[in-house]
Amino acid sequence: MSSRSIDTSSRNQQVLRVIQITLVLNCFIAITKTVVGLATGSMTVLADGFHGFVDAANNVLGIFTMRLATRPADEDHPYGHQKFENVAAMVIGALIFGLGWEVIKQVFQTVWEIYRGHRDVAASRAPLEWHYVAVVAMTLAANFFISTYERRQGERLNSAFLKADAAHTRSDIIVTSMSILSLVVSSHLWWLDTLFALIVVGFIFWAGWLILRENFDVFTDRVRLDPNEVRKVVEGVPGVLNSHAIRSHGTETDIHLDLHIVVGEHLSAKETEEIEETVRRVLQERYPNISFVSIHHQTAPHESNGPVWCD
Ligand SMILES: [Zn+2]
Ligand SMILES: [Zn+2]
Ligand SMILES: [Zn+2]
Repeated sequence: MSSRSIDTSSRNQQVLRVIQITLVLNCFIAITKTVVGLATGSMTVLADGFHGFVDAANNVLGIFTMRLATRPADEDHPYGHQKFENVAAMVIGALIFGLGWEVIKQVFQTVWEIYRGHRDVAASRAPLEWHYVAVVAMTLAANFFISTYERRQGERLNSAFLKADAAHTRSDIIVTSMSILSLVVSSHLWWLDTLFALIVVGFIFWAGWLILRENFDVFTDRVRLDPNEVRKVVEGVPGVLNSHAIRSHGTETDIHLDLHIVVGEHLSAKETEEIEETVRRVLQERYPNISFVSIHHQTAPHESNGPVWCD
């Protein structure tokens, strides 16, 4: 009744390689910012450094997940292990929300301390040193490289994980810019830090929302193929009198499709089987991302005027 058409193993190996390269760069970014944060006493840069370690942890998580997602179908998961990748993307989405919450907390704590007179803004900051600014600017270049590289590879390999991580790194560009700004404005214009931090939180939450929404579609079995279009393709096969109950779900690269076809009642089982095989072949030529097709044949005429996805 069903067949597997895509070899996902080489794709997953390529996704794994992109994550490994990103992990090395994220470790460089995290260590650099933490060292600069400690040396300058800038809380923003130090927090940004810790955030870099969270990013590296995400990459490690991604590597474990990809190892799992490359596993072929087994008794426990007869449809394969592709959705482990979507689970990882959901975790990243949740972590982005957690990060946004941390930034909000930090901003309000700082404003509260200044308001209560518990913090002297001018005294708590070291004087501006340009070589630290230059070093953090280098991590900004690394952010740009990672987000472009991951987005391109994510689109090429159609990987939810890479696209999610690229979106996150785009929000990192804004956080890093905020760090540079906090170093430059140093002891004056403390409120500019506060203002920019709140804008950054907006960007961070937006990136998190986009990722969660895309993966909700997978877990809530949102339709993947237009059933009216599928019907035209299927009814173009000689011997198919009607097609209905056309339903699809899955991920973008791993679509499951099931449908009913009406065939002539005097056809032999062998003739019906040949029609089904033709339908399956035509569908997989038209939609290469279909991995499973389940066809139910009937001889009773289909008289419903309801939607094409219903029986
Ligand atoms: Zn399994
Ligand atoms: Zn990040
Ligand atoms: Zn039916």
